[in-house]
Amino acid sequence: MPELPEVETTRRGLAPHLIGRTVVGLDIRQPRLRWPIPRTLRTRLPGQRIDDIERRAKYLLVHTKAGSALLHLGMSGSLRVLPATTPIGTHDHVDWRLDSGRILRFTDPRRFGSQLWQPIGKVHPLLAGLGPEPLDDDFDGDYLWKRSRGRSASVKVFLMDQAIVVGVGNIYASEALFAAAIHPKRAAGSISRARYARLADEVKRVLSYAITRGGTTLRDFISPDSEPGYFEQELFVYGREGQPCKVCGTPIKAVVLGQRSTYFCPRCQK
Ligand SMILES: [Zn+2]
Repeated sequence: MPELPEVETTRRGLAPHLIGRTVVGLDIRQPRLRWPIPRTLRTRLPGQRIDDIERRAKYLLVHTKAGSALLHLGMSGSLRVLPATTPIGTHDHVDWRLDSGRILRFTDPRRFGSQLWQPIGKVHPLLAGLGPEPLDDDFDGDYLWKRSRGRSASVKVFLMDQAIVVGVGNIYASEALFAAAIHPKRAAGSISRARYARLADEVKRVLSYAITRGGTTLRDFISPDSEPGYFEQELFVYGREGQPCKVCGTPIKAVVLGQRSTYFCPRCQK
């Protein structure tokens, strides 16, 4: 499933091909995505010039003077800029025709992705109530410490709560907690300010690293043969149950927290 780094990588890859271009038409072959493609997107987007492309959590916002297209990759979606003559595959559900002669193609075998519309001056309900971006300056140890007071939920579940901070997926939460030496089952409210400062730094570090490597799970948006971002051998705990900790040699353990598999070193993480 595409995580924040993959979505950010997609944004950076698409931006030079989309910004300044005009959408001259839409070819919607399958409107029934996770939610049906709304009529507003069909009527408002064509003819508009793309002013910017922004990421919020795992959503992409394609801004125009008429409003913003709100795109989500779901479980298996991808966005690529291709020559307009590229043959159409079974899962190529939507093409935006651009004045550059190219198309922005949305491909999604499982159809959990979406293409929605956010009117000017409004915040789409899917974006309302989201916490800060993990790479922004207002996300830091003090923020985590303040938000966690009185909370008995585990720090792993707390860190993956989108109302606390967006886009820290399972892989990155597990790896950041290991790097910060914090046990994932520890109650969020029992962790000191100093340890949260380290955790916030590690969250930023693992996400930034994954972005520079192109994300963990999604292939590059133009060259399908490129390598994913985090290589398996670079992960310290995620997916390594029973294997020796790379720091101390203790076998890595797995537990389920908030319905998600959680990996940790019982010796390094307290
Ligand atoms: Zn260890």
